[in-house]
Amino acid sequence: MEKLEKILRTRIRKLGLDTRIKEKTIFLYWEDIVGKLSRFSTPAFVNQGVLFVNVPNSVWAHNMLIFKHEILNRINSRLGSKIIKDIRFKCGKVGVRRFKGFDGETGKKIESIDLTEKELAKVDAIAFHIKDEVLRERFKEIVVKDLKYRKWKLQQKWKPCVECKRLHDEKHQLCYYCRSINNNNSVI
Ligand SMILES: [Zn+2]
Repeated sequence: MEKLEKILRTRIRKLGLDTRIKEKTIFLYWEDIVGKLSRFSTPAFVNQGVLFVNVPNSVWAHNMLIFKHEILNRINSRLGSKIIKDIRFKCGKVGVRRFKGFDGETGKKIESIDLTEKELAKVDAIAFHIKDEVLRERFKEIVVKDLKYRKWKLQQKWKPCVECKRLHDEKHQLCYYCRSINNNNSVI
């Protein structure tokens, strides 16, 4: 068993999944990291070391700025390395899962997308490091949704962003997040 874990870990590292797994951990521990502020903020996305957080309005975006460095420190000490370099606060849905496409008709379509056995095995492998069973299941749920969402995007012929390679459906070459990073504002 130990040997298998070692093999999986090496494979995960080789695939560059280490950072991505750690990034996803933020979604899992958000309440823990920001406490009561989680009522007014929901992590949305990580791109090139920048964490995007949804807040209900621009007033809250400015309020959250006060806590930015404290939140950054807490996240990175939780992740065990300085993976997150900056946080951007943006107006958006708060208190919901970050997959906006999962509501309504589109949501049903995404949910009904099947994953292959290989893909499911991959999910198991990357969730392997989480000891707590409840957290592990929640994590797997997030990753499964992520994979289904990606498949759906490919079906819709979304194009990869020229910078971060993530799929998006905008008319720009850069995705929304890369454009925001280039704008260099803490509130967007
Ligand atoms: Zn991008």
